Amino acid sequence: MATLSVVMLSNWSNCCNRPSGDYKFRQAYRRNNLHLRQSSHLSSSFHCLCATTLPVLEEQKRTFDAERAASLVKDLRNNFRSGRTKSYEWRVAQLQSILRMIDENEKMIIEALYEDLGKPELESFTAEITMLKSSSKEALEQLKRWMTPEKVKTSISLYPSSAEIVSEPLGVVLVISTWNFPFLLSLDPVIGAVAAGNAVVLKPSELAPATSSVLAKLLEKYVDRSAITVVEGAVAETSALLEQKWDKIFFTGGGRVGRIVLTAAAKHLTPVVLELGGKCPAVVDSNVNIEVAVRRIIAGKWACNNGQACIGVDYIITTKDFAPKLIDALRNGLEEFFGKDPFESKDRSRIVNSFHFKRLVGLMDEDKVSDKIVLGAQRDESQLQIAPTILLNVPEDSLIMQEEIFGPLLPILTVDNVEDSFEMINEKSKPLVAYLFSDDEQLKKKFVQNVSSGGMAINDTVIQVSVSGLPFGGVGESGMGLYHGKFSFETFSHKKAVLYRSFAGDSSLRYPPYTPEKQKLFKAVISGNIFGIILALLGWSRD
Ligand code: NAD
Repeated sequence: MATLSVVMLSNWSNCCNRPSGDYKFRQAYRRNNLHLRQSSHLSSSFHCLCATTLPVLEEQKRTFDAERAASLVKDLRNNFRSGRTKSYEWRVAQLQSILRMIDENEKMIIEALYEDLGKPELESFTAEITMLKSSSKEALEQLKRWMTPEKVKTSISLYPSSAEIVSEPLGVVLVISTWNFPFLLSLDPVIGAVAAGNAVVLKPSELAPATSSVLAKLLEKYVDRSAITVVEGAVAETSALLEQKWDKIFFTGGGRVGRIVLTAAAKHLTPVVLELGGKCPAVVDSNVNIEVAVRRIIAGKWACNNGQACIGVDYIITTKDFAPKLIDALRNGLEEFFGKDPFESKDRSRIVNSFHFKRLVGLMDEDKVSDKIVLGAQRDESQLQIAPTILLNVPEDSLIMQEEIFGPLLPILTVDNVEDSFEMINEKSKPLVAYLFSDDEQLKKKFVQNVSSGGMAINDTVIQVSVSGLPFGGVGESGMGLYHGKFSFETFSHKKAVLYRSFAGDSSLRYPPYTPEKQKLFKAVISGNIFGIILALLGWSRD
């Protein structure tokens, strides 16, 4: 803590008197690898330090407290109530501006992602920029259709009438985002919220400070600030926001904070989407094109933010007989992609910060696990890099199998029969995604029918999220609620049920006094019994 204080104090002298959202301050913040949340010890020590040695942080805290949050929500609510965000034109203008913002600032975005995560340019381009542009374009193309009320049939007993489902915006919504795909996972929900006609507050992750700053600066410049706002910050700022009444909270992050969000939302009966994580398994059958399978597993693990992805492969299950062949193929594939010395490769992101680096090292250095390493395990804290690491048959009660790995470590578990893997997966919390590699049609069917998860991909990894017709979201511990494409629009809309009637055809049948004749006719009409209706109208009865 003493060293930390010295480092922070020297930074403080540079940062003092700067605005609270100052970029250099945030960089220093990250360089010192302070993780403010996941370790309660670190977190409380840090706050203690703030109070005594870092008035700038106190200032930051003061500048966005519950009072400021309340005032922000009030302003946004007034703007929402004015009706401006509901119009088709407003929504289109915002979506076009977001698209233009991404187009005109691609370089700045890629640089920020590199600064936060060492993310390779191509990965930033495909997994963040392109995905967001597709979302914006789809929303622009489909918005009219999405906004058009959906006609619904009414029953004969309500003749004459018509009915429709009208999608209306929820109001003022909060989006809380995470650091691993900090641009995509911040803006993608915002696109849905804006398309649906809401006012939005976005709270990006403080662990990707460069991207957070770029988001704040760019959105302020490009979109309607009276209805779309960014609040940067960490726990204090998020807590201040969570005290407010929202019409929806869309949270992406871990289950621990997800529970905090859900608890805060319950106070106001606010609906919540929780996009959480978990341990995504990949079952690898021996009946498989091993070269292609291995390339796609590597792509979905190490070439996808270096394993720091909620949909990345967390662990593999394969048969005892096939495991040695699979490990050899993975070893060769990794060398082909990243070279003999994986630290030389520029094609893998780095670990986000020192806290996570140490957490990952702890997972592979645990006593009952360290002798299970079959590949990798080299680490370099100064570069925040860990080599692609494969472990074979780690015990189920090891930390690496108990928590989401979220990094470049890949345990392989073995079973006698590939179908035994279904039970192994189902025994754990439901994952966000479950993967299967197999050419066996029967096995594919059984996997889809018997394994429960947020989503699935057969014979590939990660790219399923680019299919906008598929909803994205978890189940059980991996989350609740859906988005992407039209599902994003629906997530941020209320489906209002509307029945239209005219004053014609007002039958006395439904009104008292309920004579026996009326009752017969009423029952016949309700049950759709044409013969009964005729009998009742003629005054005859079968009773
Ligand atoms: P996190 O839950 O620690 O943080 C997410 C957000 O919550 C951040 O904006 C942070 O500022 C805020 N926050 C943190 N502590 C808080 C507190 N005490 N009170 C209020 N707000 C708080 O998650 P993370 O470490 O940023 O992200 C990793 C997790 O997110 C992993 O579990 C991963 O699987 C999951 N994830 C899920 C998806 C998805 O789409 N399902 C995508 C990416 C990441």
